[in-house]
Amino acid sequence: MAIINVTQILAEEKIHEVIRLMECCSCEKCEDDVMALALNSLPPRYVTTHAGKQYVQLESFKKQFETDVTAALMRACMTVKEHPSH
Ligand SMILES: [Zn+2]
Repeated sequence: MAIINVTQILAEEKIHEVIRLMECCSCEKCEDDVMALALNSLPPRYVTTHAGKQYVQLESFKKQFETDVTAALMRACMTVKEHPSH
């Protein structure tokens, strides 16, 4: 299958920055919890990876939704900090 969820790609790029900023625990478990919580609160956006279109779509997606993704990650960090599962 050659489809990817660009919301997830963007969240993966941002998660370490946000965890550091929010002083959230960065163990693997908390990181996964933050990622799952954030992704559940965001609409998935799928693009195909054929013909190099992915890059163009990813870049335009980033400009539009970077703020939403960062905000969702911040909310997720707060939840994980209150109820860490590690
Ligand atoms: Zn942890």
